This record gives sequence, C-alpha cells and structure tokens, in this order.
Amino acid sequence: RDKKLSEVINKKSETSDGHPFILRANIEFPEELEHLRALKASGIGLLRTESIYMEKEHFEDIAMQKEFYRTIMKETGSDPVIMRLFDAGGDKLFDDNKKEQNPFLGWRGIRLLLDNRKLLREQLEAILTIAGEFPGRIKILVPMVTVLEELTEVKEEIRSVQERLQSEGKDIDREVPVGIMVEVPSVALKIDKFTEMVDFVSIGTNDLTQYVLAVDRGNELIADIYNQRHPAVWELIAKVADSAVRYNKQVTVCGELASDPVSAACMLGMGINDLSMAPGKLAGVKHLLIDRSLDEMKQLAEKVLDCGTTQEVNNLFKSWSER
Ligand code: PEP
Ligand code: MG
Repeated sequence: RDKKLSEVINKKSETSDGHPFILRANIEFPEELEHLRALKASGIGLLRTESIYMEKEHFEDIAMQKEFYRTIMKETGSDPVIMRLFDAGGDKLFDDNKKEQNPFLGWRGIRLLLDNRKLLREQLEAILTIAGEFPGRIKILVPMVTVLEELTEVKEEIRSVQERLQSEGKDIDREVPVGIMVEVPSVALKIDKFTEMVDFVSIGTNDLTQYVLAVDRGNELIADIYNQRHPAVWELIAKVADSAVRYNKQVTVCGELASDPVSAACMLGMGINDLSMAPGKLAGVKHLLIDRSLDEMKQLAEKVLDCGTTQEVNNLFKSWSER
C-alpha cells in the first residue's frame, strides 16, 4: 500500500477528466514540515499559530514569533502559506483567571484578539514583517469571525500596522491577502456580505459542525451526534462555495471533512477545488480524486443536498465510492 500511495503522490493533481485541484497541508508544529516536500503538498493551507502562543515565552517575544514564521517560509520553497491568527480560547485556555461556562461559545479567536490589541498587533507585525521577506507567499486568515464588524475591525488593524511599519521604513508586502474562516453559521448564512470584503474564505468544518448541530466537538457523551457529514453542514458548504464562485474568490476547506476522500470529491463537485488537510491524509484523498471525473462529483454534490440524515449521506457516499 505504501508503494501505491507514493505513486499517487507523483501523479498530476487532476480529476480523471483533467480538472485540476489543489491539496495543501494543515500544520501546527515545525517538526511536521519535514515530510511535506515528499508529499508534494501545494504549501500550507492552514498554519495553526496557537501553539507558539501556548508556549508563553515564545509569543511574548516578537522576535521569536518572527523566527517561527521565517522557519515555516524557508521550509516551504516557493509555495503559499496561509497563516491563521491565534485561535486561542475555546478548549485552548487563554487566561486562567477567566474561566467560562461555555468556552466554545465564549471568548475565542478574533473575539479574544480584538480585546487584546497588543497581542493582535504584535502578531500582525510579526506576520507582515515576514511577508515582506517572502513577498507574495503569505496570506492572513482570521479565525472565529461571527459578525461583519469583526472583519472591518481586523482589516483596519492590519492597515494600521502596515502603515506604521512602512513609516518606520520596513519592507512589507502591502498586498497580503486577507481571508476568514467560515466556521460560525451566521457567516455561512450571510456569506455574500463577507465574501465581498475578503480575498478568500476557508471553511472550517470542525467548528462549523459543532455550531450547526449544537454539539461540543470534544464531548464524548454526544460524540455520536457530532458528524461532519450531516446534511445541514453540506448545505452550508454548498452555499459558501456558490458565493465564492460568484464573487470569483478563492475558497478552501481546511476542516477534517476535507480529508475524508468521498467528501473531498463532493466538495470538488460543489466547485471547491482547493483543500487543506493533515499531511498524513493527502495521499488517500488524492488517490480517489484522480480516479473519478468532475461530472461524477457534481452528481454526487447534487444528491447530497437531497439527503435528510447523516445515514443517507453515508449510504450515498458508500455506493458512490463503490461505483
Ligand atoms: C475548523 O474549525 O474546522 C478548523 C480547521 O479549525 P480548528 O480545528 O483549528 O478549530
Ligand atoms: Mg476552528
């Protein structure tokens, strides 16, 4: 099987009828970079930056943050890297003195960053500085956006840090694209308003599922209800894909559902040809995507929107993959 997967990796990333797709890697720690080249990933579709912040002595020092980003850039050749702003909070406790009853519905992601401007500005300074060293390769991804005002505010903050760095004579990338995670239902439901304002969107199915189904993603008592293949999740994915296509904006899926091969095919069928996943999942997904036609995937995508239950989706996916 290993040999077969290595053959798959070296094949062109296109469907059996020649439609290209892009597979990227989700990365959290520099150690994960080692195997990336061998896997032929098209860069990093999601760099989770919380880990540096969790190791406090790192994030308290801008120079060390920069060094982390620089290492990532050096190890990824000329490929793009999507850097997500700290997605602290939720299950990743930020402040020991601020215990919350419902942390996943609480102070996390961009909410927390807008309340901690120093932290936000320092991270932006680090990212924008490194973007200046590697022009055209870095994109900024904003986590946990819920309302338009948050996007407006973070964009203003980016502009102001850019202006400050420029006035200090620093070389920055003024064109660094800004995108948002689509992981809160309010954003998926009003997606056009957000798509208009960003350069790209990235669908986070891990959180989107948790919030659509009102199921804590880490709670074992209800783990059987948490299923990313639920038809309600598919309906929102389709809606977001449709918006991105109409506005001609890049759309990626970086949640775990993208690493489920049949689900990945279904996403292609919806017009999303850019997927990001754990490095270990790349070959398995590619194996299926290069074997089937875009037409078949479109038919699958149409059918999934008619399903009412996860069980129906599972049956559909099973029969589709067995052809
Ligand atoms: C997601 O929510 O789908 C996602 C990719 O982000 P994280 O798993 O880091 O919350
Ligand atoms: Mg998330």
